[in-house]
Amino acid sequence: MSEKTFPLSKERLEEIIKTYPTPFHIYSEKKIRESVRALKKAFSWSPGYRNQFAVKALPNPRILQIVHEEGSGTDNSSLAELLLSEAADFRGEEILLTSNDTPADEFQKAIELGAIINLDDISHLDYLAENAGLPEVLCFRYNPGDLVDGNDIIGKPREAKYGLTRDQMFEAYKRAKDMGVKRFGLHTMVASNERRPEAFLLTATIMFDMAVALKERVGIQVEFINIGGGLGIPYRPEEEPLDVVAIGEGIRGLFQEKMVPAGLGSARMMTESGRAITGPAGWLVSTAIHEKKTYKDYIGLDSCMANLMRPAMYGAYHHITVAGKEHAPIDHVYDVTGSLCENNDKFAIDRRLPKIAIGDRVIIHDTGAHGSAMGFNYNGKLWCAELLLREDGSVELIRRAQTLDDYFATLRGFAGSII
Ligand SMILES: *Cc1c(COP(=O)(O)O)cnc(C)c1O
Repeated sequence: MSEKTFPLSKERLEEIIKTYPTPFHIYSEKKIRESVRALKKAFSWSPGYRNQFAVKALPNPRILQIVHEEGSGTDNSSLAELLLSEAADFRGEEILLTSNDTPADEFQKAIELGAIINLDDISHLDYLAENAGLPEVLCFRYNPGDLVDGNDIIGKPREAKYGLTRDQMFEAYKRAKDMGVKRFGLHTMVASNERRPEAFLLTATIMFDMAVALKERVGIQVEFINIGGGLGIPYRPEEEPLDVVAIGEGIRGLFQEKMVPAGLGSARMMTESGRAITGPAGWLVSTAIHEKKTYKDYIGLDSCMANLMRPAMYGAYHHITVAGKEHAPIDHVYDVTGSLCENNDKFAIDRRLPKIAIGDRVIIHDTGAHGSAMGFNYNGKLWCAELLLREDGSVELIRRAQTLDDYFATLRGFAGSII
């Protein structure tokens, strides 16, 4: 069981709402720091281990500063993300660019930053050399095809647009070496919200075997093995958190067995988890503004899928509680909806909840990763604010809510004023 708690009392929450009206995401600095430390501990056997926090999970520079203070790097997949990393004072090889179908300006910025560049295809090598130059450290993203089975979020590697096949890997490293690249790593990302520990052991096995084969066949010695992100979190209260220490220990055993005898014992481990770092540290706080009874009972919130798309997009479960009603009887069944003109704009379907009154503060859990980050403006729905709950209990606004002015700002060719 994972306990689904919210770090604020109803009274404290109401006080905060006086300054920052709902809806907003609120993130716990304490929980974020704890998650980075837990992962670091799990891989403490690997000198130089680093988690490259996946910026796309929570692209806010205040959050990036916090993970940076805890020793993380970043994993970036767009120009905006590279700029966010730079703004949060990440430098050089703390920054990793893992993109695909990559435009030249991303490569150029990554080269300017001295970032590690992770290539998604062999053809990107020439494109990179022509458009930006070659980096100091390079890796390629391995797509192991049928060796891994995938899940609903990430799909099957064979069907995925990412990465190079096994044969292409040898060709790509050889070509990069011939072009003059001196330092190498190895990357893959084949898991998403993966909750089976053995999946990470399988990934590590595949990667260590590949590192050994690269040494034998191409004569390169990889400096790091990046097994990607994808560590799952318990979205449902009945689920257990992943035992990252056991995963780290399992990977250590495989490292000893495969890498050390091959003379690759100096390679360091790297991960790029986003969800496991900030996911459980965030909550979307909304207010119930409507109750509707038709064939079903509905509670309508002042937020919508523009603020949290995962339930609509993946049918994902997010736990819901009501502030001040944590111990009330769970004797109602509701669909909890947002206001977007899409029938799938439902945060929960047939969810057992306490009786909800208009004005109640409805708290959606585990929104700290791929929550606000997946925001969009369809239907003219606006991004909500993001707040940081500091370790001392104070609250800091780290993104103001988008306004209609922001939304209309890019319109051209229209003489009138909209607001
Ligand atoms: C999304 C992504 C991640 C982070 O995934 P999580 O599920 O948040 O851990 C890491 N690496 C790459 C390349 C990604 O696309």
